[in-house]
Amino acid sequence: MNYLPINIKLKNKQVLVLGGGSVAQRKINNMLVVGAKITCLALNFENQIKQLADNKKIQIMRCDLTDLNILDQFHIDLIISATDQEVINQSVYNYAQRKNIWVNTVDQQDLCDFITPAIVDRSPIVVAISSEGSAPVLARIIKQKIEYLLPLNIGYLATIAKKLRNKIKTAIPDFNNRRRFWDRFFQWSHQSQSILKDKFKTTNKQQIKTIINSVNQTQGKVHLVGAGPGNPDLLTIKAIKVLQTADVVLHDHLISSEIMNMIRKDAELIDVGKQAGNHKTKQHNINQLLIQHARDGQQVCRLKGGDSFVFGRGGEEVLALAENKIAFEIVPGITAAVGCAAYAGIPLTHRDHAQSLAFMTAHCSDSEDTIDWKFYAKNNQTLAVYMGLIKAEHLVNKLIENGKSPTEHVAIIENGTRESQRTLTGSLHQIPDMIIANQVQSPALIVIGSVTQYAKELDWFVPHQSQQEPKAYLKTA
Ligand code: SAH
Repeated sequence: MNYLPINIKLKNKQVLVLGGGSVAQRKINNMLVVGAKITCLALNFENQIKQLADNKKIQIMRCDLTDLNILDQFHIDLIISATDQEVINQSVYNYAQRKNIWVNTVDQQDLCDFITPAIVDRSPIVVAISSEGSAPVLARIIKQKIEYLLPLNIGYLATIAKKLRNKIKTAIPDFNNRRRFWDRFFQWSHQSQSILKDKFKTTNKQQIKTIINSVNQTQGKVHLVGAGPGNPDLLTIKAIKVLQTADVVLHDHLISSEIMNMIRKDAELIDVGKQAGNHKTKQHNINQLLIQHARDGQQVCRLKGGDSFVFGRGGEEVLALAENKIAFEIVPGITAAVGCAAYAGIPLTHRDHAQSLAFMTAHCSDSEDTIDWKFYAKNNQTLAVYMGLIKAEHLVNKLIENGKSPTEHVAIIENGTRESQRTLTGSLHQIPDMIIANQVQSPALIVIGSVTQYAKELDWFVPHQSQQEPKAYLKTA
């Protein structure tokens, strides 16, 4: 780290802005927000700068900056040099050094005593992002991401916290209890905006007591979050928000390490990956854990691969929560069929090939007899088979028995959307051999239908390079 981020109080400080163009104007706007007294010197001024001067927000003075003696008449705390003349910028810098005044020269880091970061403003919460001048555009991209993540009301919460701080300190003298209170306060108030507004109109002793009781009695909440097929770029913004605020995360085995790394660092992690053959008791235990943690007032994230409501037993979990009157929210995820097909270049429907799409699993032995094979063997339909590896031979035989052509196009997508994605294509009757010959491992999705023939032509995803250099798809004649 070469620059120390500090917050400077500029209220009523004298800031000299040199240059009257759009860059100067942007800097002026930033300085005005924090109450600086601004004088702007230039030969010509943008209209907005002139307007600010007309409205007495700033002072402007038309002058030639090739002679800097003019600066001696001002008391200056800080200089922003935003002229487009390198020679002037250099002599302004030299002048500032001589006079011991801090200077920032726009876009010329070697002529800066300080540099300004990109800012996410949720005053009084302010996030500053700096690349130390090495990649301002990257800093701006990070800023956009943080803008998405920070709720708009977070500044309001901080203001209220400031108002209550001393009173809460008196009411809850024990440090640990007080910390627990604040932890809950921010979660709780985040959930109940309307109550919040009423409760903070006055803050006498009785009110403070009510607030403390409400906060301490808050029940937790469970977010059932679909993590998508594994590529962290495919998480929803809501999913990221939940991952970064949860107190405890109960997660499946299927979740990729990149996504696990996005979980708040001090959250408790509980691996509830189910073991084969032990489904019923496991599911019951998971439900109980969710209920118990929420009753303890925690923000609970139940993190599942793909979408929780697609072969994810999410339904059973939320039913248990509803029965026990635990608050919950469902955050949809990209299900494997949709994610894998997109990353393998397979349009799941296509006017010339498939007018319908079916998701199926042949995995669960209890339900095998009830499978309507005729329906799944229909033509003009794409079939996405989840958990299909183990029973692949049975699946293929049943589909062929019920009328599907043995030469129907198929694709097997292993580790879809991830760096290790592999797509194999072939015919229906070849599936068992394809799995053995290529040692296909879970997770893998089998897609059956003539749309899979596009996988070769539309193969756009280049694992290991996709981040740096996306391969554009160009159709060749
Ligand atoms: N709820 C999940 C599915 C859980 S069942 C969803 O909506 O995607 C688990 C099966 O999903 C795996 O056996 C496999 O068939 C499929 N699957 C999940 N992630 C996958 C991935 N990245 N690549 C290929 N198949 C995947």
